[in-house]
Amino acid sequence: MASIRVLGAYGAREKGKGTTALQLSDTVVIDAGNLIHPLGSAAARIDHIFLTHCHMEHIADLPFLVDAFFAQRSRPLNVYGLAHTIEQIKAHIFNWGIWPDFSEIPLIGTETPAIVFHVIEPDRTYEVEEFRLTTVASNHLVPTIGYVIERRGEARSIYFSADTYRCDRIWQEVNENSAISALIVECSFPSAMERLAKSGHHLTPALLAKELAALKRTDLRIYVNHLKPELAPTIIYELSDHPLTSDLLVLDDGDEIEY
Ligand SMILES: [Zn+2]
Ligand SMILES: [Zn+2]
Repeated sequence: MASIRVLGAYGAREKGKGTTALQLSDTVVIDAGNLIHPLGSAAARIDHIFLTHCHMEHIADLPFLVDAFFAQRSRPLNVYGLAHTIEQIKAHIFNWGIWPDFSEIPLIGTETPAIVFHVIEPDRTYEVEEFRLTTVASNHLVPTIGYVIERRGEARSIYFSADTYRCDRIWQEVNENSAISALIVECSFPSAMERLAKSGHHLTPALLAKELAALKRTDLRIYVNHLKPELAPTIIYELSDHPLTSDLLVLDDGDEIEY
């Protein structure tokens, strides 16, 4: 059985709470919201970062990661994302203004750049180390993909749908792909903040309950992430108070999910 470790489970930072990052193995992670604090020096082993989208809480540790371990790295840090994601990161962070462009800086004693950016597309499968990652578009404020994660030799997969508003494609994927044993879905705001959630293209417990009406399976484990920490008690109460969401498991930093 394979497992992933939740390095950051939240949609904003607070003391002891990190933003989105999932560790698939020592070398492969999805999103870079919280890598350095939970991993410490082990973060130097990361070779592949698959991004869901460009928002700050999903990329925050990327500039620090490439800088902190620059002297000890001999292999590039491979960063994968949609064209929009990579363009935004290059234009607004690695632009020699906010931060050096590490894709132009070779590692010490090599011709290899410290970062290699890779543009990926929705509805494709990418193989890296022992994983197959299939990209599925979500419905967020900026172009965003989730990932169906399979580890070689395992029959089951797990689907992380990332930041999203209401999105038929997510439920189509879990209904049609019975190998998916677990889904990680977001729920960022309490139901009373539906207007704010809609404007930012996020879900609330009430919206998630409406989405779950489209789920045709009863064997899917569903985990919830990306709560805003200051609003988490209300969100957790509301999830527990609805028949369609009361069995969902709310994630915290450090959780391990088997699939
Ligand atoms: Zn987010
Ligand atoms: Zn976002």
